[in-house]
Amino acid sequence: MAPITTLRDWLDRLAATDRLAVARPGAGLVHEIAAIANRLDGRKASLFPQPGGHPIPVVSGLTSDRGWMAEAMGVTPAGLLGRFQHAAANPLPCVETSDAPSQQVVHRSGIDLTKLLPIPTHNELDSGAYISAGLCLSRNPQNGIQNVAIHRLQVNGPDRLGVLILPRHTMSYLHMAEEMGQDLEVAIVIGVDPITLLASQAIAPLDADELEIAGALHGAPMPVVKCLTNSVRVPAHAEIIIEGRVLRAAREEEGPFGEFPQYYGERAKRHVIQVDCVTTRSNPIFHTIVGGGLEHLLLGGIPREASMLSHLKRSFPNVLDVHLGRGGVMRYHLAVQIKKRSEGEAKNIMMGAFAGHYDIKQVVVVDEDVDIHDPAEVEWAIATRFQADRDLLVVGHSQGSRLDPSADDGLGAKMGLDATKPLTAPPLKFKRIAVPGQAEIRLQDVLETGDATSWRERI
Ligand code: MN
Repeated sequence: MAPITTLRDWLDRLAATDRLAVARPGAGLVHEIAAIANRLDGRKASLFPQPGGHPIPVVSGLTSDRGWMAEAMGVTPAGLLGRFQHAAANPLPCVETSDAPSQQVVHRSGIDLTKLLPIPTHNELDSGAYISAGLCLSRNPQNGIQNVAIHRLQVNGPDRLGVLILPRHTMSYLHMAEEMGQDLEVAIVIGVDPITLLASQAIAPLDADELEIAGALHGAPMPVVKCLTNSVRVPAHAEIIIEGRVLRAAREEEGPFGEFPQYYGERAKRHVIQVDCVTTRSNPIFHTIVGGGLEHLLLGGIPREASMLSHLKRSFPNVLDVHLGRGGVMRYHLAVQIKKRSEGEAKNIMMGAFAGHYDIKQVVVVDEDVDIHDPAEVEWAIATRFQADRDLLVVGHSQGSRLDPSADDGLGAKMGLDATKPLTAPPLKFKRIAVPGQAEIRLQDVLETGDATSWRERI
């Protein structure tokens, strides 16, 4: 199957395979949309016509499962990380177009974001309405190269958004603009296909345009169009574009907001985006990501797995696969599958993983007979192949995630567990039991049909 390139094509695919739930019209923007989306998390995407009476529908939960993301990319789940690694290493430049559905409707004056768009409020203690699935596109003011990131966006006023900008690429461009005495031109892009969302989260260096990674994943250059009020180029097939500027001088209170670790991000003075223009398709769809749900976690987790696998394989070619588990919010807990070559190597691999991303807090290393995508399998390996006095590595007072509430302002400990078999063990000692033929049996060939209430007559 060819890769999916627009939100509408993906909704068609989900609908055709019974993975899109359509709500009754008028679901409430405050909490109700998020409540329904969370109840369907992992099973179905959800579409909300006339949310809160607003004419623009809301969609959520586009990628509740890593298999869905692989399907959108046109690969098997086993091919997901390899395909992403290849695209990140071989980006495809965008192509400019003048035929842009994303600019069919133009709002230049009297902008009132909550009247124009159905912006929901998700969690109990969120400060209010948030745009949570907006790609923030910015432009290096020195060389014109673009960056893509997702920042949480609080509605501060009719044409003002509060924005949390962490010290990464958007911040680098903002500092360049400040040094030139300018605001930073940005565009917020809402309503794109799941591959473009995933590409936006690539662990790429500064001045690597994530839209070009999306193009490589699509197998075709991303068609882009220049914004009407600034020089940012935006995807021509997106549903909604908010054009604006990150103001260099302004700071306003932002937060709290329900974040990926399933805790609230704190309230503080943050940057502000002044909105200059909103353009949309003629009948646009608004996308929202509910914090901490599988859609949110997968978008962060899959690109991190891909970059971690590349990083580890450079030093340890016998690393077979890596997995960031749901319980570890797809950021903190890593499982690594290896073909063990020598004793002690698992501990070297742990240290490599800790160095690979500061978010990593726990690493479990297992053999090739353990399915790292199944948390019960990993726990089984720890239960039967790990002894804490011999196989545990703890590194204290190292850099970790600031959103981990158990860490001390981002300072925390790393834990590594070597759950691999000893190479010198007798052959039977760690051999998994197995029933011959179990995997090959076709149950429809060997089982009676119908219910079993007549079991007495059948014996
Ligand atoms: Mn970037």
